[in-house]
Amino acid sequence: MKWTPSDNRYEQMVYNRCGKSGLKLPALSLGLWHNFGEDAKHANKRAICRTAFDLGITHFDLANNYGPPPGSAEIAFGQILKDDFAGYRDELVISTKAGYNMWPGPYGEWGSRKYLISSCDQSLKRMGLDYVDIFYSHRFDPETPLEETMMALDHIVRSGRALYVGLSSYNSKRTREAVSILKELGTPCLIHQPSYSMLNRWIEEDGLIDTLEDLNIGSIVFSPLAQGMLTDKYLNEIPEGSRADQHKSLNPDFLNEKTRNNIRALNEIAQGRGQTLAQMAIAWVLRGGRITSALIGASRPEQVEDCVKALTKPDFSEAELAEIDKYATD
Ligand code: NDP
Repeated sequence: MKWTPSDNRYEQMVYNRCGKSGLKLPALSLGLWHNFGEDAKHANKRAICRTAFDLGITHFDLANNYGPPPGSAEIAFGQILKDDFAGYRDELVISTKAGYNMWPGPYGEWGSRKYLISSCDQSLKRMGLDYVDIFYSHRFDPETPLEETMMALDHIVRSGRALYVGLSSYNSKRTREAVSILKELGTPCLIHQPSYSMLNRWIEEDGLIDTLEDLNIGSIVFSPLAQGMLTDKYLNEIPEGSRADQHKSLNPDFLNEKTRNNIRALNEIAQGRGQTLAQMAIAWVLRGGRITSALIGASRPEQVEDCVKALTKPDFSEAELAEIDKYATD
């Protein structure tokens, strides 16, 4: 039977303006980095995406290399778009990226015009799309002139392959340079995608968070749950099937006694607020309205449901923030 999304899907989500642009993004967005490769069941991928959309998550984030194998998350998402979201394309913001290793030889990674444009074409083909909403340079390339990378992004927009462009993981200095080039070219930078969480505060130290405000650029922060460490799952053991157990991108060595103690203390603060740790971790990155969207991942639909409830208690007292600061360290 054909699935139809919930009629109430826009009732509980909050939509934040992305910088000074015309585009609004949901306060929570869903990323398909893990759990959407050939190693995962299609029915679960589809259930996660359906749940997200039903809860008002209109933004789905991909990259050329998400899998495994690279490319397979885009293929799976293309199938979901075709089977479930057909007729809803204009309610969705779909992003993809290029920057990391995707195919063999000198043209399959980094920031050349050759790589970015061909990778974008490949992504569109895998997802069965005419265009993506946002196309990102996934990482700064120290060897390619920044002008070349930005001109490729400008071309991707002008040729109709993407509506907006973004930068991912560029530091504050490189962001200022890239944004200035894009402005001159006439394709403004919409958004920046850095990592940020209570266990990873580099954007505060680097000044990127202030730079983005200063430049009126939106921000979508990845891994706000520190890949699952900022949930109640690793308080004691490493549960079977979790990301740390599978030795994927989360190295179990990160879960040393010091970090575990910090996580336990943060969990107690969350309990005191009547929230799960995951919910508090999301509310914390969104605190004060400086961040446009928290970009979560999920291995089950129930995790998405749990995370979205973060929006029911978004505010922190000064005392709570000071208490969190004691344990929210790298
Ligand atoms: P998170 O920090 O949100 O971690 C997601 C993981 O946390 C899930 O897979 C799950 O772990 C666990 N989890 C989620 N919700 C809950 C919950 N309510 N209760 C308990 N556990 C929960 O984000 P990701 O690291 O997955 O990154 C999110 C997205 O950010 C990616 O999909 C991608 O789109 C983007 N990203 C971008 C990068 C870039 O370079 N631009 C780099 C990395 C990510 P488990 O699987 O163990 O159940």
